[in-house]
Amino acid sequence: MFNLILFGPPGSGKGTQSAKLVEKYGLIHLSTGDLLRKERQLKTPLGIEAQQFIDKGQLVPDEVVIGMISSALDENPAARGFLFDGFPRTVAQAEALDKLLELKKSSIALVLFLDVNEDELIQRLVNRGKTSGRSDDADESIQRKRQEVYKHETLPVAAHYEKFKKVVHIDGMRGIDDVFSSLALHIDKKIG
Ligand code: AMP
Repeated sequence: MFNLILFGPPGSGKGTQSAKLVEKYGLIHLSTGDLLRKERQLKTPLGIEAQQFIDKGQLVPDEVVIGMISSALDENPAARGFLFDGFPRTVAQAEALDKLLELKKSSIALVLFLDVNEDELIQRLVNRGKTSGRSDDADESIQRKRQEVYKHETLPVAAHYEKFKKVVHIDGMRGIDDVFSSLALHIDKKIG
């Protein structure tokens, strides 16, 4: 199995690049944001609980998202690999993911970190808010909160994987195709 984490702040292009990467490499895309939005649409108890956090720009509790990822891994026993997008977002989530993969005799091969500066992130999210229909995109104070949460709770996840020399930084300020070429180059190098 080849497992990849696409890492970066909200608005760095993870969703856009994930769609292209899963198509090229045949990986299963696991976006906790997408999974939570699906639960909300279906009005499940989990979806309703999660919405309270999402609407404030806060993180949904670790056990909720870890449970979702654990089920998704079990549901895809024949997968060639997984692309994790928006997960892990805390060190506790990263440690749980490492254990879940270990149980499947696998691990994270690579963490691709999309670097985008904060002004550009806010600009992109403002634009996305006009069309995405996402309540947490439409409000600039929620966007700022999400960037704060990212810095305090999610950035340490990169440090966790730096310890294992798994992180590669990619300049995410360029156009979609240029960023994609860089990501693909690093994946190809790793796959060999
Ligand atoms: P995203 O689509 O990845 O930007 O996620 C949207 C929102 O869903 C986030 O602001 C969080 O409230 C919640 N969320 C998504 N993924 C996670 C996660 N791994 N841990 C906690 N909350 C999450």
